[in-house]
Amino acid sequence: MLSNGVEDRHIDALTKVYNKEYFLGKAEELFKSNPDIDFCIVELDVNRLTMINDMYGLGEGDRVLKTIASVLLETFEDVDHSLVCRMTADLFAFACPYDEKKVIGYIDKIEDKIRILSYDLSVDLLMSFGIYRVNDLDVPVSSMCERAKLALSSVKGNYIQHVGFFDESMRDKAVEEIEITAKMNAALIGREFKVYFQPKHSLDDERIVGAEALVRWMSPDKGMVSPEKFIPIFEETGFIMKLDAYVWEETCRFISEKQAMGLKVPPISVNVSQIDLYNPNLVDTLVGLTKKYAIDPKMLKLEITESAYTESTQLMLKVMQKFHDHGMEIDMDDFGSGYSALNVLKDVPVDGLKIDLKFLSETSISNANKAKRILASVIHMAKWLGIPAIVEGVETAAQVDHLKSLGCTMVQGYYYAKPMSEEAFVKYIETWSKDDNFEVSKPFEEAVINPDEWWDSVSADCEPILEMNTCHILFDLGEGGELDVVRASDSLYDIIGGRERFFNAPFTFLDMVDDKDTARFLTMFDNINDYHTIGSSIFRINLDGRTIWADAKVRLLEKYEGHRVFFAVIDDITKSMEDITK
Ligand code: C2E
Ligand code: MG
Ligand code: MG
Repeated sequence: MLSNGVEDRHIDALTKVYNKEYFLGKAEELFKSNPDIDFCIVELDVNRLTMINDMYGLGEGDRVLKTIASVLLETFEDVDHSLVCRMTADLFAFACPYDEKKVIGYIDKIEDKIRILSYDLSVDLLMSFGIYRVNDLDVPVSSMCERAKLALSSVKGNYIQHVGFFDESMRDKAVEEIEITAKMNAALIGREFKVYFQPKHSLDDERIVGAEALVRWMSPDKGMVSPEKFIPIFEETGFIMKLDAYVWEETCRFISEKQAMGLKVPPISVNVSQIDLYNPNLVDTLVGLTKKYAIDPKMLKLEITESAYTESTQLMLKVMQKFHDHGMEIDMDDFGSGYSALNVLKDVPVDGLKIDLKFLSETSISNANKAKRILASVIHMAKWLGIPAIVEGVETAAQVDHLKSLGCTMVQGYYYAKPMSEEAFVKYIETWSKDDNFEVSKPFEEAVINPDEWWDSVSADCEPILEMNTCHILFDLGEGGELDVVRASDSLYDIIGGRERFFNAPFTFLDMVDDKDTARFLTMFDNINDYHTIGSSIFRINLDGRTIWADAKVRLLEKYEGHRVFFAVIDDITKSMEDITK
């Protein structure tokens, strides 16, 4: 602990904890003089300090740092054999005896204290911790700190996991990172970065409705390097700004060149990194490119990842306003990857939502049915808000079919095409747009519902029904009696004249049911309380001046948070009813 009598030169002037040099020496002394104690070094930082400095001034940033230091001192006040220090600007460290439970306990305490400190800031103080367990006293303490820092980097920016433990593989990764950083500038000058394009398709008529520009690094010694490897490093070093500007320009050049050749180029979306938002020339740069290449601003769309909207809402609002003033559109990328995007949707005027199936995969959400429900509600909600939604990462016909039944109208993914080179993309557009109508040239695989994939938990019950490809519909009945259509089969949409009908607010299924039958129709649901009962109801649907007689057989699929989900098979019995009443 910081004790009185330590000379000023060993103390960090701002935060009053030990400085790095003194800590390194003291820690070595501590570890060596207590060989029987298992120690650890933990590094921690606050994720958005630069932003706090930028937005609220250095004074506010300093206040945050001082607070963290005082919280650390308070936490370790009574912990024997512990040391606290400030390593660099926003990086702190502590050393203490290692006991996993206790160390996690200290971390929880630190986070709790930081959280309750009410700063007048509109950003949360998100902290990350990296733990290195000391197991070899021959390793210099400075290297131990480096390892704790690697553990910290592994969780930096991660909302769910704030604490990382060092493991050996992190060192290999660090070497790779150093290599990438050393080569990036030369690679840009040497034009090793290539822009690939991945088409976006309409589910209504299969047209190409857009494309996304995705960068690839063609390294002479490593081959094609995936952006997932280098983008995070470029974001950390700020190099992403240069690379993005290059990708944007290449994309504008492509659009302009190919349009001049008469190719029907769809609007192309480029990724704008969250770091780019801090570039005051961002809007001018992008607008300038559309002017330089004489392309309609609508042809260059922007994708900005969800976290930018939640973490830098005010800045995003300003930037979006400027882009909109210039006629440019912005989609929210990776919707669903963060934790609070739903809240911001009502505040930020996004032009589109991109939902990545990978964020809803079973690895990230343990319950597969929950993932499906989330997908359904996100697509619904987007419809209600009038925001076009596109689903990416779509790989199979079953997924396409499911998305169609949810009312999703646009997809991007390997099912249609992987990201491809400029040359291949030109051919792709040519093949898909043999005539002016972008006529369908790829036979659409017969969409068959795959119960194993989508309805595993209920497949046994529903298989016979699904195999008959009958007209079916999935209802979600809320506690307050709201009856929503979660999904329905194409054949049902055929009866009611299109899928848009169900998903466009304020229209609901009950609006279609004849008033005389509504009460009876709803009572049927009330009477189905277990998973075995099959309810049935004959009711009239009034549509466009026609009356359709429908026979519904309904069974309960699942219950969740006061809601009940029902599976219904609907038979059109109009003809028989008319025959009877003739
Ligand atoms: P993103 O913008 O969400 O891009 C979608 C990613 O999903 C791309 O990965 C794409 O290749 C991949 N993908 C598309 N369809 C499928 C599919 O059916 N299945 C699977 N498993 N994956 C699919 P990619 O190209 O590796 O890019 C990864 C991320 O790197 C991008 O995510 C984006 O955040 C970033 N990125 C790529 N290019 C750029 C760029 O030029 N600038 C910036 N700032 N970021 C970029
Ligand atoms: Mg994207
Ligand atoms: Mg995405």
